[in-house]
Order: sequence, then structure tokens, then C-alpha cells
Amino acid sequence: MIRDLELAFIKIHILHHADKEGVFGIGLMAELARHGYGIGPGTLYPTLAKLEKGGFLTCAARTVEHKQRKYYHITPKGRALLNNMRAKLKELYQEVIEEQ
Ligand SMILES: [Zn+2]
Repeated sequence: MIRDLELAFIKIHILHHADKEGVFGIGLMAELARHGYGIGPGTLYPTLAKLEKGGFLTCAARTVEHKQRKYYHITPKGRALLNNMRAKLKELYQEVIEEQ
């Protein structure tokens, strides 16, 4: 159960960061670890692929320091989902955290 819930938080995180700048797998794993989410490539890459397939992210390969990297950017559909989640998150926060 904890995994299911964390995965939803992780997806929101990914959309949030992809809205600011292009994100890539290793960078996201480091960022998520910083927030206390231990996510490996076996979970992260399928999650990115799912978000891309759903039209929430676009992917473009770029060569950085002689290495090919897949960078993901948010799409208008992804931004709409993120804004929808922001409103829900705010509402949830108010009830679950502030009204404790
Ligand atoms: Zn973050």
C-alpha cells in the first residue's frame, strides 16, 4: 500500500520538476532520494514511459558529456494534470495536516 501512495507522490514530483526544466532518469532518482523516496530504475523508467505514453511528458534524446540522455519535458496536458493535482493536494493538506 505504501508503494501505491508513494508512487502517486512520485508522479506529481516528476510533473512538477518537468514543468521547470528538462528532467532525466538519474537526476530524478537523486532528487527523489533527497526527498526520502528510494526509487530505482526498474520503477522510475516504466513510470516515465507511462507518463510519456499518456501524453503528459515528451521525451527528447540529447548528448551531454558524450552520453546520450533522455530528457523529459511537461506537455500542456501534463501541466493541466499538475494544476488539477495542486488543487487537490492543497485541499488534502488543509484537511489532513492543518485540521489535525
Ligand atoms: Zn522535488
